[in-house]
Amino acid sequence: MIRPIRAAACDFLSATPAMYFYPDQPWLATAHLGNLVTQLCRGGHRAAHPLATTLPPELAPSLPGEEDNVKEEVDKELAAVASAELIHTSSLLGAEGAEDDTFLLPVSLSKSTSVLERPRIRPQQKSHLTEEVLEKLRDIVNKGNPLTRYTGFVQVGRGGFGTVYKAIDPATGEVVALKKMPLRKRSGKELIINEIQIMKENRHPNIVNYIDSYLVDEDLWLVMEYVDGGTLTSILVQILMEERMIAAISRECLKALDFLHSKKIIHRDVKSDNILLGMDGSVKLTDFGLCAQLTLDRSTRCTMLGSPYWVAPEILKRKDYDTQVDIWALGIVAIEMLEGEPPYFKESPLQAQRLIAQNKYPPLKMPSKMSFLFHAFLHSCLDTNPRIRWTARELLEHPFLQTAMSLSVLSQVIRVARKLCEGTEAASSEKNQE
Ligand code: ADP
Ligand code: MG
Repeated sequence: MIRPIRAAACDFLSATPAMYFYPDQPWLATAHLGNLVTQLCRGGHRAAHPLATTLPPELAPSLPGEEDNVKEEVDKELAAVASAELIHTSSLLGAEGAEDDTFLLPVSLSKSTSVLERPRIRPQQKSHLTEEVLEKLRDIVNKGNPLTRYTGFVQVGRGGFGTVYKAIDPATGEVVALKKMPLRKRSGKELIINEIQIMKENRHPNIVNYIDSYLVDEDLWLVMEYVDGGTLTSILVQILMEERMIAAISRECLKALDFLHSKKIIHRDVKSDNILLGMDGSVKLTDFGLCAQLTLDRSTRCTMLGSPYWVAPEILKRKDYDTQVDIWALGIVAIEMLEGEPPYFKESPLQAQRLIAQNKYPPLKMPSKMSFLFHAFLHSCLDTNPRIRWTARELLEHPFLQTAMSLSVLSQVIRVARKLCEGTEAASSEKNQE
């Protein structure tokens, strides 16, 4: 029943000029139509992104059965946080193994010690690596040492949970990416098992595929296919995308999400930093470090985590949530592609979260410049009600995606962004020498 109605609604959207409804402000028409269509369909009524990182892993552990304890802890944290004005201490220190670039700290704490003297991570009891986690990992990982198996290590990235290297397998000539995750310094260690298991069991052209894993001392090494074009963020800090390219990249991400969601997996950290681009035109979702596997007994989650600017309102409102949080995040990624950054990016993470929780729909910089179909697509992704928000499967049939250009131009876009980046770096190093 829903399908024919949705198809009719989509046809209507494709065929109806927005100007007809609102000649001066066509985007207003889209807002109304987007809601109408959604309701019909549902039967209802860096270096450049310094703040663009994941909420601290202290807030993260989410294995079944453990989440309630964590929730209690998180509640206490949030109560403390809510009563204090917060500061953001992003990128003050960049030590190896640092768990995240973004975290929130009450000002009272920051005033008592100098920011640089303070430990980067909120003081907490050092959790010991449990034998149980190690046991589970030993069952999953390969025996041996990646440092002897692979050669030509070059660091290509660093995230909240580890350092990523590019290397070569001399036996096959294959180029791989290796993510080294120090377990000792990490809380939420159980999520590492999630990351490996979910990658290992779920292969898809739009996700970065697992090759191998190793445990060396207390470092876990995850070997995966190497994606040679960099992150979507690295492009967006140089170039803003035109709608047809946004449609193409969104469609590839939605294929990945549809696949994960069909397996009841929530990614929980969809953002441009976790979308990798290949010179062959491929678009791949990566970083399964915050994934959650839903089960028949447990069809929703409640742990508060994700990246502040991409987090869905239902998570901030402490409601149970499901795979639809990834769709909200994808809508924010579409805005990133259009505007270069997610909404509220100039605000502190806490203020941004307040605004996401309060507002119905994020503000757009130039709504009048956007097409009618793009407005409709964003409204379908960014409905604050996750039941009305479209699913990945539904969005794959959204008429906006029909406007997608061929991804064969992606390699040119990456090359142009790299050239611009080299230019910016050269200019800044010249400036430094003066
Ligand atoms: P974290 O969990 O620490 O955020 P990510 O898996 O997101 O780690 O990786 C951090 C960075 O490493 C990415 O933003 C990207 O620049 C680089 N990277 C990760 N995986 C790959 C890969 N398979 N191929 C190429 N670069 C990668
Ligand atoms: Mg990441």
